[in-house]
Amino acid sequence: MTDSILLLKDFFEKNGIRFKENELLKRHTTFQIGGPCDFMVFPSTSKQIAAVITECRRLIIPLYFLGKGSDLLVSDDGLPGVVMQLGSSYSKIIVRGNELECEAGASLSAVCYAAYENGLTGLEFAWGIPGSAGGALFMNAGAYGGEIKDVISGAEHITDEGLTEKRSADQLCLSYRHSFYSEHPGCCISKLYFSLKPAPKEGIKAKMDDLMERRKSKQPLEFASAGSTFKRPPGHYAAALIEQCGLKGRSVGDAQVSEKHSGFLINRGNASCKDVEQLIQIVQEEVEKQTGCRLECEVRKLP
Ligand SMILES: Cc1cc2nc3c(=O)[nH]c(=O)nc-3n(C[C@H](O)[C@H](O)[C@H](O)COP(=O)(O)OP(=O)(O)OC[C@H]3O[C@@H](n4cnc5c(N)ncnc54)[C@H](O)[C@@H]3O)c2cc1C
Repeated sequence: MTDSILLLKDFFEKNGIRFKENELLKRHTTFQIGGPCDFMVFPSTSKQIAAVITECRRLIIPLYFLGKGSDLLVSDDGLPGVVMQLGSSYSKIIVRGNELECEAGASLSAVCYAAYENGLTGLEFAWGIPGSAGGALFMNAGAYGGEIKDVISGAEHITDEGLTEKRSADQLCLSYRHSFYSEHPGCCISKLYFSLKPAPKEGIKAKMDDLMERRKSKQPLEFASAGSTFKRPPGHYAAALIEQCGLKGRSVGDAQVSEKHSGFLINRGNASCKDVEQLIQIVQEEVEKQTGCRLECEVRKLP
């Protein structure tokens, strides 16, 4: 172990920050792929988040942020350094009138459910997207005609210098699967503020149930995946192009283009990151050759 890694371990212990050593990231990604990181840390306060950020920076140790790992492809060799996961220990949700505030580790489903319980509409589209609130803002997650951009009123993050900053919705630069954070991956999203509208609970529930049914009938939820592997190319659907090119069911090792939804690459059991990357390349090359359309990855590769 290098001196810096030993110093960091000591720092976590002294500051009461929960951590795991040599944690396998495949346990924390919905693709169930990814080698180990030196440390995985689970902060429970903004102060702990800032402390980890500044200490990693001081010791020049790489730091990555993780929500629920549902849009990630992590290398088989893992990630050198620290992975900070904002999860259940940093997931408070508060509703005040039509405003909902949450910590970034809250699951998106819990946020949607809290909105429903309080008779607030606007977040139904996100019911069933298996990420954290922070990851959803980073990606500007969206489905069935809705996206985070429509309902967010602002957010807070902690900079790579450990400072807390607030940004209004306009300053979050949200567009299709893009946010201010896509350009500033050193910032840790800590809090989100949503502006919702009152509505009868039965209507909200009916919409949530309907969208969940549509998800279950169309998506291969019985297999590990990271959702839609590719972004929607302007004027097309990735799944339709892939199917049209005869790639449905194509596989490399245990990585496969889903038979149920060609936009999803799935892990049938023991797929490696290399398998998935090879399959992505085959799909991109074949689709480009046959249709002239270049598919861009939505799934993010770490490192
Ligand atoms: C079955 C399935 C269905 C899906 N359906 C949809 C869908 O309908 N619509 C959709 O948009 N997506 C969908 N996804 C993809 C994914 O769930 C979303 O993109 C989700 O918002 C990612 O959230 P996460 O917490 O898992 O982020 P992660 O995958 O953990 O991270 C994604 C990116 O965000 C960064 N990040 C995460 N948290 C923070 C933070 N607090 N601060 C700074 N950076 C952070 C990470 O570093 C990474 O770059 C689906 C995935 C699956 C597996």
